[in-house]
Amino acid sequence: MSGQGCFINGKWVAAESGTLEALDPATGAVITEIARGGPKEVEAAVSAAREAMSGDWAQWPAVERGRVLSRLGALIADQHEAIAKIECRDTGKPLSQARNDITATARYFEYYGGAADKLHGEVIPYQDGTTVMVQREPYGVCGVITPWNYPAQVFGRTVGGALSAGNSVVLKPAEEACLSVLTLAELAADAGLPAGALNVVPGLGVEAGAALASHPGIDHLSFTGSPATGTAVARSASERHVPLTMELGGKSAQIVFADADLDRAAETAVRAIVQNAGQTCSAGSRLLVERAASDAMVSRLAERFSALICGPGLEDLDCGPLINGAQKARLESMLERGRAAGMQILAVGRVAEDAPAAGHFVPPMLISGIPADHEVAQEELFGPVLTVFEFDDADEAVALANGTEFGLVTGLWTRDASRALALPRRLQSGQVFVNNYGAGGGVELPFGGVKRSGYGREKGFEGMKSFTTMKTVVLRH
Ligand code: NAD
Repeated sequence: MSGQGCFINGKWVAAESGTLEALDPATGAVITEIARGGPKEVEAAVSAAREAMSGDWAQWPAVERGRVLSRLGALIADQHEAIAKIECRDTGKPLSQARNDITATARYFEYYGGAADKLHGEVIPYQDGTTVMVQREPYGVCGVITPWNYPAQVFGRTVGGALSAGNSVVLKPAEEACLSVLTLAELAADAGLPAGALNVVPGLGVEAGAALASHPGIDHLSFTGSPATGTAVARSASERHVPLTMELGGKSAQIVFADADLDRAAETAVRAIVQNAGQTCSAGSRLLVERAASDAMVSRLAERFSALICGPGLEDLDCGPLINGAQKARLESMLERGRAAGMQILAVGRVAEDAPAAGHFVPPMLISGIPADHEVAQEELFGPVLTVFEFDDADEAVALANGTEFGLVTGLWTRDASRALALPRRLQSGQVFVNNYGAGGGVELPFGGVKRSGYGREKGFEGMKSFTTMKTVVLRH
C-alpha cells in the first residue's frame, strides 16, 4: 500500500475516493498512483493527531523529541540517493538539485533535532511581590499544506519545526509531486516517531486541502503555495481565528551595481533563475543592472544562457521540465503577451535533441524590453526566464526592486561597503543577500516574506518558535 495510501496513525490507509496518477514531468508517463484523500481521511488524520496530543507524545521530554528527529535526519542521510532519485523523477528537477534538496532535508531534522531542548521561556520583571514567566507551548495539532516544487525541503522545515516544538502534524502535500513526502513519513515512523504524531493525507487541493484548512480540530496552519490559494486558506482559517504562517510567492530582484564583481554576479544570477526551471518562490527572476554596466553584464549572461540545456532530471543537465502542461501553457501565454508589449529575447538556451516530446520543457531565456508594470515584470512566471531592467542610481534601483506586490528575497551586488550596509534597510524583502544569493538560504536562516509574499517565518530557530504559542503566568508570592 505504502505509496498509494494516506499515512494515518502510523499506518497506510486507502482513501475512500481511490487514487490519483503521479506523472513524470519529463515524459508524461505515470510513475505510480497516490491516494486521493478527502474530508474523511482528513477527519481520521486530525483525530489521530489530536489523540497524540492527549497521549504519550505530548509527555515526551524535549530531549527525546530531539533524538527522534535527529535519527530521522540520519535515516534520510543513509537513504539520500534513493530519495533524491524519487524527488528528481517526481518534480522533474535535475538530479544534482534533487540531491541538494535531500541534503537540506536531512539537515532540517539534524537542526530541529538539536533545537528541541533549547527552546525556553522568559522571566519578566514586573510588580514587587510577583514573578512573571512567559512559557513557550506547542499549539497542538498543526495543519501543514505544501507545494510541489520543493516537496522534501518544505516537509523538512515545517514538520521538523512543528514536531521539534512538541506539536503533532497533519500534512497535505501537493498532488503534482509528493512521492518523497510519503517516503519521509514512513522513515519518521522508522526513526521512532509515535503513531499519530505525523499524518499525511495526499489528495487534491480543493478536496483534502480545503478539508484540512477548514477543519475545526486544527490549532495552527502553515501554508506554502501560491498567493491565490493562500487567500482561500486564510479566509477559511479566519472563520475560526486559527493562527497562520503564509509562505507565498516572489518576484525577487538581483540588483547589480557597476562596481560589482560582474562575473560572480552573472554566474549566480543564472543559477538563481535556472534552479528548478525557475519554479522556485525565491527565484531571482528580475535582474536590475546599473546602466553603466548593462552591456558588460548582459553579454556575460547571454553567453551563459546560450549554453544552457534542458532535459530530463535524471540526465542532470542545466534545467529540467516544468511540472506540467498547464504550467507550460501559462508561461507561454504570458511571454506571448510580453512579446506584444515589446519584449526582446537577448539569449535562449536549448532543449536536448533527445528529450522526450511529451516532456514539458521550456528553454531558459534572457529577455528585456518589458514595461515595469507589465504582468511579466510583476507576476511569478514560474519558468526559467530572467528579465533585465536598467537603472541609473540607487533610488531608481530601490524603487524597481520594491515595485511589485511581492517581497521575498533580494540580491544586492556591489563592492561599495556603505551601499551594502545602507540599501538592505530600504528593500521590502524578507531576506537580502549581499554579493551572494541563496534562493532561500540555509536551514538556519529565518525565511518568509513581506507584502503578498506572506507573513510569519519558517526555517531556523524563529521557524520553530512560529509553531509555538506563549503563556504568561503571573504569580503573586
Ligand atoms: P498552490 O497554491 O497551487 O498549491 C499549494 C498547496 O495548496 C497544494 O498542496 C495544493 O493541493 C493546496 N491547495 C490548492 N487549493 C487549495 C484549497 N482550496 N484549499 C487548501 N489547499 C489547497 O501552489 P503550487 O502551485 O503547489 O506551488 C507554487 C507556489 O508556491 C508558487 O506561488 C510559489 O512561489 C509558492 N512557494 C512558496 C514558497 C515559500 O516558502 N514562500 C516555497 C515554495 C513555493
